[in-house]
Amino acid sequence: MDTSRIALVTGGNRGIGLEVCRQLGARGVRTLLTARSEEKGRAAADALAAEGLPVSFLPLDVTDEASARRIAEHVAREFGRLDVLVNNAAISLDRKIPGLEIGMDVVRATIDTNVYGPLLLTQLFVPLMVKNGYGRVVNVSSGLGSFSRIAAGKLAYRLSKAALNAMTRVLADELRDTNVLVNAVTPGWVRTHLGGIRAERSTEEGAEGILFLATLPDDGPRGRFFKDRTEFPW
Ligand code: NDP
Repeated sequence: MDTSRIALVTGGNRGIGLEVCRQLGARGVRTLLTARSEEKGRAAADALAAEGLPVSFLPLDVTDEASARRIAEHVAREFGRLDVLVNNAAISLDRKIPGLEIGMDVVRATIDTNVYGPLLLTQLFVPLMVKNGYGRVVNVSSGLGSFSRIAAGKLAYRLSKAALNAMTRVLADELRDTNVLVNAVTPGWVRTHLGGIRAERSTEEGAEGILFLATLPDDGPRGRFFKDRTEFPW
């Protein structure tokens, strides 16, 4: 990959996002590790930078529109480009609550973080990508949002990831005449705060499909859903 490329990863302070930052950095991609906690984000970025990786920190709470607009202006002013956007940050609050009982506050908070956050960031950064003739947008979704597998439980989280999948297809189609490729990916069940300690995959394994989509060649897929390097059912 062109070593002058710049990537931005949301929720980069831990879990899969942190591993994606590490792997992008290891490929020579200048990586902006973003996090809502300045302290945690800076510590994570500093640790990767200490390993010699081109990773630096910027504050970003994906539910805070002003914060998103600030970072978009900063990136445009500082670098004049963004090549890769990884919409990774997400929350899962309704693991054990039945759909008929779930509070609207939980549903709203989940959609706010997992859908509106990625949508706003995509709206803010894609014009720059189109202008520069290159862009890769990776929406980190979940098998739990796959319509072919939807079943009882986790209503808010499933809604959010199914909506993210729909967003992926709409925006990919609207960008069909450009070199901006928008795709979705499920990392599988990964050992993180969100996935829990019993999950079957490491963060390295979970990051594989994200890296694949973040570094697609110009003739790569658009508007598709992947797990690792293989297509996954919507
Ligand atoms: P973690 O819970 O470990 O990490 C989630 C990250 O998102 C944290 O950095 C968290 O920050 C951040 N985040 C949450 N809300 C916001 C916000 N408002 N603004 C900025 N950052 C925020 O989860 P994973 O690493 O497991 O999840 C990464 C992605 O993978 C998510 O999209 C998730 O849905 C998806 N996924 C994960 C699976 C798994 O098994 N782990 C399975 C399927 C999909 P903070 O530390 O401040 O809370």
